[in-house]
Amino acid sequence: RAIVVDQLADAAGASAPPATPAQRGSLRTIDASFFAPAPEAPATATPATGVTIEVEYSGINYKDGLAVTGRPGVVRRLPLIAGIDVVGTVRASADARWSAGDTVLLNGAGIGESAHGGLAEFAVVAPGSLVRLPDAISSRRAAALGTAGFTAMLSVMALEKQGIGPRSGEILVTGAAGGVGSVAIMLLARAGYSVTAASGRAESEGDYLRELGANTVIDRAELAEPGRPLQSTRWAGAVDSVGGPLLATVLAQISYGGSVTACGLAAGAQLPTTVLPFILRGVNLLGVNSVDAPLSLREAAWMRLAAETRFELLDALSTEIGLAAVPDAADAILAGTVRGRTIVNVH
Ligand code: NDP
Repeated sequence: RAIVVDQLADAAGASAPPATPAQRGSLRTIDASFFAPAPEAPATATPATGVTIEVEYSGINYKDGLAVTGRPGVVRRLPLIAGIDVVGTVRASADARWSAGDTVLLNGAGIGESAHGGLAEFAVVAPGSLVRLPDAISSRRAAALGTAGFTAMLSVMALEKQGIGPRSGEILVTGAAGGVGSVAIMLLARAGYSVTAASGRAESEGDYLRELGANTVIDRAELAEPGRPLQSTRWAGAVDSVGGPLLATVLAQISYGGSVTACGLAAGAQLPTTVLPFILRGVNLLGVNSVDAPLSLREAAWMRLAAETRFELLDALSTEIGLAAVPDAADAILAGTVRGRTIVNVH
């Protein structure tokens, strides 16, 4: 069984008109022929060239929301098994690095976009970006972290690389109650940073965000209007997953030499700013891309997640669903109503 997208709607974006039922991903039973070599996708792994994984868990990320609701922009071949995350056990491998019985995880690297993904009972993937599941992390918790947790760790590592540390000053996390935001708050707070969470649900999710470790919770409306390109400085650094005018405001409020990571566009792909924060305050805008991260970076980030995740908090911010509930969960993540992470138990 797998969540398969067969067609795409005409308009892209979370606010596009609803797709017709035929344009939405749905739960289907497929057979091995689905993974046969396809002339239109010659680079895709097949059982003869890749690694066959019996999937235990996948997850719902924002991209999965776009794919499963049939929105263009993520899905690059049809039909496609959705799901940018996989955690499971190797059953067969054409690559000598992997053997039957290995427990592995994979985030991004094109699955659920240009190659079949993880929202299925079996996945067939290329070996190049597979990571061995660290001993300290169960399969379920690896899925709870998923691409969102991996990206949150890449964001923290990017700030550190710029010399930002717990003594640098306040760190802002936007999209705070979402997947990337929730895990970023948890990681930063545990490392000793003082964290402010900016959320559109500051009132209803305030207690949750403080439990994750936020010192202060602010309403994102405070940052939503693009104001002057240089404003009173408030933050030494920021982890942003929403983009748009909100990111422009964040850049305007970063202290001299501060850094902001950008990974997402939940509030839009435009960035209505000027060069002033960069040339007058030496602000750094750091792009984070989990999809194409090299294997060494994936392994380093997952080793750190194994050591630095507060697993009891991770359990509390995760909700488990089955494959049949994926279409509804896809609607919910695009509507911005999901708290934390949604894990999909595919069995
Ligand atoms: P979620 O949907 O879990 O979280 C996004 C959060 O953004 C929401 O919970 C909400 O937080 C906030 N938000 C939603 N809509 C708006 C809006 N219109 N204006 C301002 N804020 C909004 O998604 P993820 O955390 O999984 O992903 C977040 C973003 O990061 C997505 O754009 C995703 O594609 C991107 N991403 C990129 C990766 C990369 O490699 N570059 C990897 C992973 C994710 P709240 O209610 O608290 O305000």
